Amino acid sequence: MVDFTNRTIGTFGCVECDLGKYRIISPGRLIYDGTDFTVHPRLDKHSTPEIIVSTKRHTASLDDLTAQEAAHVADAMAFLCKAMKDLGIAKNPVTQIKTNKVGHMQLVCKSSDDGQRQYENTQQVMEDVVKLRGAFKTFSV
Ligand SMILES: [Zn+2]
Repeated sequence: MVDFTNRTIGTFGCVECDLGKYRIISPGRLIYDGTDFTVHPRLDKHSTPEIIVSTKRHTASLDDLTAQEAAHVADAMAFLCKAMKDLGIAKNPVTQIKTNKVGHMQLVCKSSDDGQRQYENTQQVMEDVVKLRGAFKTFSV
């Protein structure tokens, strides 16, 4: 599919791969754009804050990662969890490994306290995105 700016968008295949290859329009959604991964929020409202680190290359599990990708996503996850705690986004951040609908691995940082804080609208999600984007200005991988 091509949008009005003649840009290819939405393959309706793997969202994580589309994000990594800039094939979907996600204004303001990216928190960090690394060399081989991105950091972005789950945008569902009425959810607890969940920030996702996902590789730009389609990877199904940790053993699919190159040594460099593994080092980069581990550094990003450690930085992300600390930033979420420091900024009050997640009181007790924990990491999880999930996969999206087509099997792309997602490393997730979220609060361990289920239901402790829920987004009520997209504006609240975007406020956290702005805070985290500010924190990630001191991160480089
Ligand atoms: Zn993928």
